[in-house]
Amino acid sequence: MSRIISVALFLCVSVGMTAQAQQDPPKVVKISDSIYMAPLGANVYLVTTQAGNVVIDTGTSAVAPDARKLLQAESHSPVKYIILTHGHADHIGGISLWKEAGTQIIAQNSYVELLNYVTRLEGFFAPRNAAAFNRPQAEVGTWAGNYGAKIEPTILFDQKYEFTLGGVQFQLFSTPGETPDHLTVWIPKYKTAFIGDNYNGFGEPEPMSFPNIYALRGTKPRWALDWIHSIDTVLALKPEVLLSGHGEPIVGNAEITRRLTRFRNAIQYVHDEVVKGMNSGKDVFTLMQEIKLPPSSDMTESFGKVSWSVRGIYDGYAGWFDMNPSTMYESPPSSVYPDLVRLAGGPDPLVRLALEKLDAGNPVESLHLTDVVLAYDPGNNAALNARLKTLEHLREHSENYLEVGYLEYGIQATK
Ligand SMILES: [Zn+2]
Repeated sequence: MSRIISVALFLCVSVGMTAQAQQDPPKVVKISDSIYMAPLGANVYLVTTQAGNVVIDTGTSAVAPDARKLLQAESHSPVKYIILTHGHADHIGGISLWKEAGTQIIAQNSYVELLNYVTRLEGFFAPRNAAAFNRPQAEVGTWAGNYGAKIEPTILFDQKYEFTLGGVQFQLFSTPGETPDHLTVWIPKYKTAFIGDNYNGFGEPEPMSFPNIYALRGTKPRWALDWIHSIDTVLALKPEVLLSGHGEPIVGNAEITRRLTRFRNAIQYVHDEVVKGMNSGKDVFTLMQEIKLPPSSDMTESFGKVSWSVRGIYDGYAGWFDMNPSTMYESPPSSVYPDLVRLAGGPDPLVRLALEKLDAGNPVESLHLTDVVLAYDPGNNAALNARLKTLEHLREHSENYLEVGYLEYGIQATK
């Protein structure tokens, strides 16, 4: 449970708590004489050179001023480059604070579509993000159009981009994974890799968590094979220091290799099991039930759940049609739920069955039954109470932070 709490706190910070709200005021972590980290939920990094500074990621807009204050206490030199490991809000919120006349802002090409996608669907994402992170729903303005995002980078690249500042070479590689625009920054002089959120500290201390190959708040497919390839790219650099978007630095090539290899192998295993299952004609729900991490993988599911990723991979490859002719049409299964309730002689036997399912250790079927009754009568008190009991049971037994968020959302909605 403490692991969940630490992840929860961690995400709260990344989605908007101020630094002052934390118990201990955050301090800069000195990685080396030239690299500093401000750990404010999402890490903000400062790399100093004799010709000016490079900022890597900028935090949320809420924590960015504190991150900047901490890092500027280490060096006031002009900011020549801001590098964005990816376009998620917890990494790009402080761009305007760091940007000076002449500062170049670098991102990978797919950054543009990622930001347009998030802006295009702002009204869709607002309630989902609010539920996931247990926060009030963000205000949604008028629709900005399909290409309405504010795009701040001044340099975009496809596969690789290099520059040298003050004698320090920076190499940037396209490494799609958690997002299609993910990039890795590699500084050969310091044998240091900045991996963004393609590997993060969720679930730390060890064992760490499986990632979200699909995120419940809604994402395009996160291509597992790309992600694996990207981790391989980082491993091939043989870093001695690995700095991620969240969590602690990892030092020493042996430890970095051990963790990254375990991580990429877990993704590979789940991906390949889904592909095998698809090729043998298994449906997505069977695979969600069957595919488990091998015991040797030694990971939790406190952040990403394997079953969600199984479905994400399956649907990413195949889309929504499951070969059942009845799913080709506009009318969902729930369109006949009221008829089933009438056939059962009213809600009572179904509510009883829901509670029996819950007692028998089958809370998900219990939830389905309350769906059936509530389609017939949305205000049915007995069904709402059974649903509440079931959701609270699921919340009590969940070890996954995001699952708890959506269960909590369901509990509030039921109340
Ligand atoms: Zn992040």
